[in-house]
Amino acid sequence: MLSDNAYSEITFDGYHAPSFLNVDGAIEVGIEFHSLSKTYNMTGWRIGFAVGNRDVLDGIGRIKTNIDSGAFEAVQRAGITAMSGSQDCIGNMRKIYMNRRDALVKGLHNIGIAVEPPKATFYIWAAVPEGYSSIEFSTLLLNEAGIVATPGVGFGECGEGYIRFALTQPVERIEEASKRMKQLKLD
Ligand SMILES: *Cc1c(COP(=O)(O)O)cnc(C)c1O
Repeated sequence: MLSDNAYSEITFDGYHAPSFLNVDGAIEVGIEFHSLSKTYNMTGWRIGFAVGNRDVLDGIGRIKTNIDSGAFEAVQRAGITAMSGSQDCIGNMRKIYMNRRDALVKGLHNIGIAVEPPKATFYIWAAVPEGYSSIEFSTLLLNEAGIVATPGVGFGECGEGYIRFALTQPVERIEEASKRMKQLKLD
């Protein structure tokens, strides 16, 4: 059992995301991965870690040492610094994403798309307006409002009818996007 918990620290409103390893017996059967990409804004630095079952970790170690030669040492040192220093940066980042989240949720409400503010991650998963497929609505946003969002169907057929926004732009840009969405002529 492999658990990918890349967003465990990107949480809001006091919510604590659970770890697979919180489950009784989990350590007997698997491991959990965490990446420094999101938690410490180190996307592209290619550094993360795995914790959990000793035998599985041993196996990963054996595979890794045979297929690559490890992360560049300066990046490993940066990772150590990130994880052993003050963790205030995470709280600051949570506030930034939370403000962006609230701005986009408000913008979506203003065009009649009801969405619960998510408790974690920097994505908003929203239902598309009636009469649109997820691809039609994302195409409309792109062509008529200059907004890039991912059609839900790209994540599998159950994602049809939804669209995913990434909160990777500052609040001012999200407010601008909200303004443009408000000006769209929805059928
Ligand atoms: C970002 C992310 C990761 C980790 O990606 P790396 O940048 O390769 O460390 C893993 N899983 C999910 C779901 C992610 O979004």
